[in-house]
Amino acid sequence: MTETSILLIYTGGTIGMVKDEETGSLKPFNINKIINFIPELARLNYNLEKISFDPLVDSSDMSPKQWIELVEIIEKNYNEYDGFVILHGTDTMSYTASALSFMLENLGKPVIITGSQLPLGMVRTDGRDNFITAVEIAAAKENGVPTVPEVCIFFENRLYRGNRTYKYNAENFNAFRSVNYPLLAESGIYIRYKRKNIHKHNNEKLKLHKKLDSQIAIMKIFPGMQPSSVEAMLNTKGIRALVIETFGSGNAFTNSWFIDMLKVAISNGLMIFNVSQCIGGSVEMGKYETSRKLKQIGIIGASDMTTSAAITKLMVIMGEETDREIIKDRFTSSWAGEITE
Ligand code: ASP
Repeated sequence: MTETSILLIYTGGTIGMVKDEETGSLKPFNINKIINFIPELARLNYNLEKISFDPLVDSSDMSPKQWIELVEIIEKNYNEYDGFVILHGTDTMSYTASALSFMLENLGKPVIITGSQLPLGMVRTDGRDNFITAVEIAAAKENGVPTVPEVCIFFENRLYRGNRTYKYNAENFNAFRSVNYPLLAESGIYIRYKRKNIHKHNNEKLKLHKKLDSQIAIMKIFPGMQPSSVEAMLNTKGIRALVIETFGSGNAFTNSWFIDMLKVAISNGLMIFNVSQCIGGSVEMGKYETSRKLKQIGIIGASDMTTSAAITKLMVIMGEETDREIIKDRFTSSWAGEITE
């Protein structure tokens, strides 16, 4: 028995899948059999315990329900373990990483999410390195303090702040990017931590946010978009917030029908947020005439947040607040390093 204990939470995803001989499709596999593909893990000499989702999910089926399940597993085991490694499909990994970063306030231990593009059972798998290094990062400490006390994605030699990432490639081993925030570490012969980019460890009590409201919609605009589509989105039954994915630094068409429709929706109680379609840079409402009007009618800018960070943060805020001013203040301030201040 060693001093370092890591809890491995297997949710599903390519990393643990095998080919179904009948259908030819990839399907999830048992966690204990997966571990057998990496006998080297035993040589790390950590106490590695495993928990598996039942049923396992392809990450396209992830939802707030599974994020709450993850948070509850971490909550229950928080004092027993030095760090947590989550095996997860890549497709929605950035959403899960973002959601957990907001749901686990005052996190003082590493939560490292990883997966792979090729299953562990395949000869050229990228899963072995991702998995082993994620475990090492989750176990890393300096002077008894966790080196990376935040929710991260480790993928193909790079450690990212989870809520800054997006999946940008469906077949490269290097599948993730974080354009608006630098790497937290890079692994080669050594794992080189970039300490100034990593959250400082805090001794505050872990505070959980488990009430999520997903009555939210996203509307991606494009040149030539029809009024009827905008109208349909704005009138989606039950939604409390709409995130508009705009052009460049937060710009949209200036046609009066568009601005008028948004104005009416806001006066009817809908909260509207502005996230850029660009993967780098920031929303700066008022910089151009094409965003000044949006600001004037009360649309709230998401600064340099990714769409997945904005959406999951809103779910958490909407789950807890009804006051528009409080929602706006909480949305526009950075909680987990998701906004560049
Ligand atoms: N469809 C898989 C998933 O996201 C893809 C992957 O794991 O990379 O679960």
